[in-house]
Amino acid sequence: MTSGRRALITGAAGQDGILLARLLCDAGYSVWAFVRSSSRRLSLLRRMVPEAQIISGDVADSTALGEAPKVVMPDEVYNLAGFSSVARSWDHATEAMTVNAQAVVSLLEFIRAHNHVAKTDVRFYQASSSEMFGRPQETPQNESTAFRPVSPYGVSKAAAHLLTMSYRVSHGMFACSGNLYNHESPRREPHFVTRKISMGVAAIATGRSTDLTLGNLDVERDWGYAPDYVRAMWMMLQADVADDYLTATGRSHSLREFLDVAFAVVGISDWSKLIRHDAGFVRPAEVADLVGDSSKARSVLGWSPTVGFAEIIERMVVHDIDLLKETS
Ligand code: GDP
Repeated sequence: MTSGRRALITGAAGQDGILLARLLCDAGYSVWAFVRSSSRRLSLLRRMVPEAQIISGDVADSTALGEAPKVVMPDEVYNLAGFSSVARSWDHATEAMTVNAQAVVSLLEFIRAHNHVAKTDVRFYQASSSEMFGRPQETPQNESTAFRPVSPYGVSKAAAHLLTMSYRVSHGMFACSGNLYNHESPRREPHFVTRKISMGVAAIATGRSTDLTLGNLDVERDWGYAPDYVRAMWMMLQADVADDYLTATGRSHSLREFLDVAFAVVGISDWSKLIRHDAGFVRPAEVADLVGDSSKARSVLGWSPTVGFAEIIERMVVHDIDLLKETS
């Protein structure tokens, strides 16, 4: 299949970037992956998406970022680059704002200028986050729920979300924000708790480790399957009209439930003695009641999630056991 379309993906070496680059290449797109040269996941990107052309750059460097649309002449731009750790954002608030908000307004400006010069109408996707809701006044949340972020990360994502909306409304750009609730897969970066657990369980099951250290186990999240959510990004840019959407499963689970399923995959029912607590992983403020209502994405885009909570975890744990066996 050849769509002949051209896509630029920033942050392409992250979980979503790799999955999206693969999806677009399979659909016949030419894909340019804008990635920091220091990214430790560059080799994974190259292995999973060898067709993607790499552009080395940091979204915080506006010279490199400004060149990208001119070089690629994209039909679609997916801005997935970000300071991705909520936990680290309290100690690195300036960096979170620079990468997650300042760089977005720069990119929107570059695209606006490019549209003008090249007489084109680039479609733009911004990766928003449920962290924008923080401690919301209503559950489940939808596209109209007020933002009440509690972390610098959440504030930076809210700023980028509003900027994207403002460029759509003010300049008529085809600019969409996708508020994708937590989404996981075997490609998840290890600093996220889900992958930390799947890797930890795999290490315990294969005798490489005796325990796993975590923070607050009572937190809850609405966890979905990353390939489903990446498909939603693409669907948003294929719609007739630009708009913002929320994707979620509509069900939340605690970290304890996550651990139940993960350890059950390797036949362990009582994991209490295998978990150590470290207050260093407890955050200054936790979000609460984040459960998403994705009725709009379902009805307008025809999107729906295909892989449920237990199966996501099973796929991650099995993948990480296989990975350990391959590398031993
Ligand atoms: P987030 O929703 O983007 O912040 O995704 P994370 O996977 O980083 O964190 C999900 C939840 O797990 C948060 O509420 C954390 O407080 C909680 N958590 C508990 N222990 C850990 C841990 O060791 N690492 C991380 N990353 N999160 C932890």
